[in-house]
Amino acid sequence: MHIVVCIKQVPDSTHIRVHPVTNTIMRQGVPAIINPYDLFAIEEALRLKDRLGCTVTVITMGPPQAEPALRKALSLGCDDAVLVTDKIFSGADTLATSYVLASAIRMLHKETPVDIVFTGKQTIDGDTAQVGPGIAKRLDMELLTYVSRISQVDLATRRIIVERRAEGGVQVLETRLPALITMLEGSNELRFASTPNMFRAARATVRLWDRTSAGIEDIKLVGLKGSPTVVSRVFGPTPRAEKAKQIPFDPAAPDAAAAALLEQILAESPRVQEELAHRRQPGVRD
Ligand SMILES: Cc1cc2nc3c(=O)[nH]c(=O)nc-3n(C[C@H](O)[C@H](O)[C@H](O)COP(=O)(O)OP(=O)(O)OC[C@H]3O[C@@H](n4cnc5c(N)ncnc54)[C@H](O)[C@@H]3O)c2cc1C
Repeated sequence: MHIVVCIKQVPDSTHIRVHPVTNTIMRQGVPAIINPYDLFAIEEALRLKDRLGCTVTVITMGPPQAEPALRKALSLGCDDAVLVTDKIFSGADTLATSYVLASAIRMLHKETPVDIVFTGKQTIDGDTAQVGPGIAKRLDMELLTYVSRISQVDLATRRIIVERRAEGGVQVLETRLPALITMLEGSNELRFASTPNMFRAARATVRLWDRTSAGIEDIKLVGLKGSPTVVSRVFGPTPRAEKAKQIPFDPAAPDAAAAALLEQILAESPRVQEELAHRRQPGVRD
């Protein structure tokens, strides 16, 4: 079995600031990290590798500086890494990004047939959650979004069963392989890199693919030229009106203080009351 995990290197959002005059994101000096949601996708792929003994290839489309993200994935246990990088890819929106990634995955499929493609649920910078579904559509793969758990993969019948978090509950879905899965955050516990894998990752060759190696057939569909999205305005969220409250607390009676606080929250938030009532219904899972 061959699994491909798509990861994106993103600016660490805890360091991001918006320029007060131009309203553009100030990226200078901001450290880059693997998109946090993609770490859950890597972990889930590695768990399948542990269970079923498959090969995991990690891929990103980005500038040459994205290489450390791939080495980090190798240090966690991925087997192969591909950096799809070419000047003509810059300025890509989600349509152009999914075109390039789908073309590259097709090339990987020619080397070793691909059974599952993982992406994160969304990125923390672009935030659209469109790239995964875009790749699935282009590759004509079954699409499973917002997956919180992979319950079963049967290689003999080529079926997969997953749990998908939906509003107010969990859906159990079964479909055939090959499939593309967008992975939810918090769905698994992330592993640490082992020392042997860290040495292996430092020595490994990250494959660099340009437009030719990535199998791009139409260069009008990549980069800025292939991106119909126009960003008309960027703005920060309006600060909330509510202010933090200081609540008197008697350390001698913590239970009474907690009960009073809970009562106050419920009185002020009918939405929380509705949610609690909904969760108390039989058959509703958190
Ligand atoms: C006009 C325009 C120009 C842009 N120019 C640039 C630019 O020059 N440089 C730039 O960095 N961004 C640029 N962007 C942003 C870029 O288009 C998006 O970040 C990118 O298309 C992915 O969309 P997203 O971040 O919303 O991903 P989502 O759809 O939220 O991502 C979902 C998942 O898809 C996978 N994924 C997403 N992107 C990649 C990737 N590149 N490689 C591998 N897997 C991926 C990840 O697993 C991710 O968790 C531009 C956007 C627009 C609209």
